[in-house]
Amino acid sequence: MLEIEGLRTGYGNIAALQGISVAVAEGQIVALIGANGAGKTTTLKTVTGLLQPWAGSISFEGKDLAVLSPADIVSLGISLVPEGRRIFSSLSLLENLKMGAFLRWERNRILRDAEEVLELFPALRGRKKQKGGSLSGGEQQMLAIARALMSKPRLLLLDEPSMGLAPRLIETVFHILQDIRERGTTVLLVEQNARMALALADEGYVIETGKIVLHDTARNLRENPEVRRAYLGGRGDGRNASREGEQRAPERGAD
Ligand code: ATP
Repeated sequence: MLEIEGLRTGYGNIAALQGISVAVAEGQIVALIGANGAGKTTTLKTVTGLLQPWAGSISFEGKDLAVLSPADIVSLGISLVPEGRRIFSSLSLLENLKMGAFLRWERNRILRDAEEVLELFPALRGRKKQKGGSLSGGEQQMLAIARALMSKPRLLLLDEPSMGLAPRLIETVFHILQDIRERGTTVLLVEQNARMALALADEGYVIETGKIVLHDTARNLRENPEVRRAYLGGRGDGRNASREGEQRAPERGAD
């Protein structure tokens, strides 16, 4: 569905991505994990047209994204949940949702879609008039995801949805991502929280200083000694496998 090949880009003269290749098949959840400054956000900015590639290609269902504007990319069916949520604090929850449908004009349909999207987010139901800024961090993250769903994406990109959230809320957000995938939306998830991301994903890529250093199934990455040592807080020798290696996908209904 999404194919990034040999992508190089950066800021000014400084390269942030040094020829990365990442593929996301329809129906999958793919995780891109890596430390601070590795190039994860830069990857998403380039896919969404906010940054131009210097070299390489990005295609979505065979269409070249590099020649399209961010708005055209949204209308193809790609939506981004940005790092730090970026919700509109002074707008109500419903107004925030409507902003996610800015390319569409059918008012009644948009209101119906807002109701439908909110079915996935019990914590937000009944709070449509509440100002975005008065929601908790976890609720704002859910609103940012809900807003991204308003454009009816087929591919949802998420930039560090776990950032700043308590473990219990991270689990809630990750359950919602499972539901979103089950409803037919493909997901590319960028995370520093490798443990949760690899518990949820089908496949994973590890990025370090602008290069993909590993690509495998999420299960294999969870068991990979290097990944365990560098990203999962394990020893890498398998001795704590029962504790570190058996991270389960979050169970439904935990919250
Ligand atoms: P984080 O978790 O901190 O967001 P990341 O993996 O998303 O990390 P990027 O934000 O993509 O990393 O940054 C990749 C590199 O590009 C880093 O060296 C960073 O300092 C640099 N960089 C990011 N944004 C800019 C910018 N606007 N101007 C200049 N350099 C930037």
